[in-house]
Amino acid sequence: MPLVGGKILLKDAIKKQYAIPAFGIVNLEGAKAAIEAAEELNAPIILQTTEGGINYAGHEELAAIAIACAKKAKVPVAIHLDHGRDIKYHKKSLELGYTSLMIDGSVLSLNENIKITNQVKKLIKNDNITLEAELGIIGGKEDDIEEEADNFTKVEDAVKFIDNTDIDMLAIACGTSHGFYHKEPKINFALIKEITTKTKKPLVLHGGTDVPLEQITKAVEAGIRKANFDSELKKAIICGILEYMYQNPDAFDLRKIFRKGIDQAKEVAKSKIKAVGAVNKNWLK
Ligand SMILES: [Zn+2]
Repeated sequence: MPLVGGKILLKDAIKKQYAIPAFGIVNLEGAKAAIEAAEELNAPIILQTTEGGINYAGHEELAAIAIACAKKAKVPVAIHLDHGRDIKYHKKSLELGYTSLMIDGSVLSLNENIKITNQVKKLIKNDNITLEAELGIIGGKEDDIEEEADNFTKVEDAVKFIDNTDIDMLAIACGTSHGFYHKEPKINFALIKEITTKTKKPLVLHGGTDVPLEQITKAVEAGIRKANFDSELKKAIICGILEYMYQNPDAFDLRKIFRKGIDQAKEVAKSKIKAVGAVNKNWLK
């Protein structure tokens, strides 16, 4: 039952001024870690999959895992397509029951980005489904695509983009990048505030991995209403597994081995849920 539309999650986050934590998953272990963390802290969350994750696991397979986990959850969960660049992934995601989409036209010109965003908007027939778009280039490695250093979103572009599209939330480039950092990121909080004020749209923070938690909290105070965390959870799953194997080199029971991975990723997810202010925001209770 708690598989919900992105709209209802976003509405609550806007009203209570927190950000929905969105966790990237490519397998069952990631989904379990995120949902167990959310249940322990009584928080609404988003489970999201990229084109690369879908290509790895299979779209039907990954959707089935995410949706089954969401339906059993004691907290509200939306299923989101992260960085959908090709329209075929949007069409398929809608067929499979995703409740939120992101069209990433950030590498295109502003006008082309507006055009493709409006094409995806037309595919959405259900009012409960949210559409996120991206403006400005968020650096680092997303899926298998490596982007150069950050190219901050321009305020006037954001205003034009919002005036010419009908999206629910906007991902901006504001100093974070995908993956792990070589030096501490510097988030441009003033830019988040200015774009929030001028566009009146909830903003999305990408590249939440490895960002000091107090910076995440400050970004939420400035106007972020969805925050993405991906690489750090995956790394935690691997670290949990490696630690277990180091201590038990003869182990082969995947249930025990993977459980350690889930446990470590769950702790990471909990720290993010706290940082975005989503603890006890489960409105199902
Ligand atoms: Zn991203």
